[in-house]
Amino acid sequence: MNVARLNMAHGTLDDHAAAFGHVRSIAEELKQPVGIMVDVPGPKYRTGEVPSGSLSFKEGQKITLTSRQSAAAGGEDPVVPVKPAGIHRDARVGNRILLADGMVTLEIREVQGEDVFCEALTAGEITRGRGVTTPGVEPSQPFPDEKATSAMGFAARQQADFVALSTVTTSDDVAKAREILLAMGFGGGIYSKVERSRAVTNQASIINESDGIIVARGDLGTEIRLARVPVVQKELIALCNELGKPVITATQMLESMISLPVPTRAEVTDVANAVFDGTDAVMLSGETSIGRYPLEAVRVMAEVSMEAEKALPYDAMLVDKRDHLEPLTDDAISYNACQTAHQLGASLIVAFTESGGTAKRVSKYRPRTPVLALVHNERTRRSLTVTWGVQPVTTGSLEQTDDFFDRAREEAVRRVGLKKGALVVLVAGVPIGLPGGTDLLRVLTI
Ligand code: PEP
Repeated sequence: MNVARLNMAHGTLDDHAAAFGHVRSIAEELKQPVGIMVDVPGPKYRTGEVPSGSLSFKEGQKITLTSRQSAAAGGEDPVVPVKPAGIHRDARVGNRILLADGMVTLEIREVQGEDVFCEALTAGEITRGRGVTTPGVEPSQPFPDEKATSAMGFAARQQADFVALSTVTTSDDVAKAREILLAMGFGGGIYSKVERSRAVTNQASIINESDGIIVARGDLGTEIRLARVPVVQKELIALCNELGKPVITATQMLESMISLPVPTRAEVTDVANAVFDGTDAVMLSGETSIGRYPLEAVRVMAEVSMEAEKALPYDAMLVDKRDHLEPLTDDAISYNACQTAHQLGASLIVAFTESGGTAKRVSKYRPRTPVLALVHNERTRRSLTVTWGVQPVTTGSLEQTDDFFDRAREEAVRRVGLKKGALVVLVAGVPIGLPGGTDLLRVLTI
């Protein structure tokens, strides 16, 4: 794995602080860069306490959802509180309510005060903390709310590498969150989860305002028609690829592995297809948080992704990307680093990157040639864990351009095992050691 996501919609701050510490210390022990992404909950309704921990009901059964927080009741007519209070304001008689990412569909029969009386259109089972969606109606709560602000504070204090913003609907939401996070001292990447239908409509401006995107297919599939999810996934990935913004494809990728050690053929194909679509990363959720086979799921995900990556049409991709070149020096150098590596059959691209920017720009052009990013600290190294095709290594700071050439040669031999005569394409910004533009391209023979 490259990144651990802590979903702040569940658990306590103490649980998350403990998980954060574990990931950091194990990554250090293994000398592997592992980014940590704090997922900031949006204004999303979830089931509160459910009578006896789990509630099963039949098709046609009555169930009451309520904003009253102490009202859980079992029996023939179960009552389930929904958090935070407000579902009664967003419920319209005749509309549907989806529970647990759409696993259960209810129809609203009546709204009385804070109670929403529903009938189950499907049989199902729910537990505490499951999503409650009112398709087509935005939850009437502010963004960010108290819980989101507390999660952002946690991300800043713990020096997380990324935050994920849930349920954003406009680029203003992202800008607002960015301002709050900056004021809190957060210096990592901001990833917006596209899961609301309005976010799909505003996708271009949201991507522009964000450092990356998560195609949050779980909630998305309750907000738009399920049949539209693959189409929207492709659109989002294509736009992110064009703009050089990392995109993560998420949810139900290996869902059956929550309870079984082997995935379905359809799931394996879904992971591979996300890679073929151009995703930078694929994400597991329930498979690793509550599943019985977390390690197996990560192994399957990694193996399938790497196999799919080998089959990408790199030559055609490089030609297609020429249509999206920008009239900027760093873009020209980054594209030409990939083109040069391709043309010469180079074994490696080495990027020296102070802020991570040079490696990200090279990654945008999806070279077949592996990219080794030399960075001067662990923080920048972790910031590249979502970036496609880049292996970041820490080398400390470099003083002069010749130091970069020497270090690139050393690392190519030591870490990648390149032999005499192998070609390496080097990219960096000069003067070396200062963040900024990418303007140096050189071919080195080992
Ligand atoms: C999703 O809805 O697909 C998602 C990634 O969000 P969460 O896991 O927070 O529900």
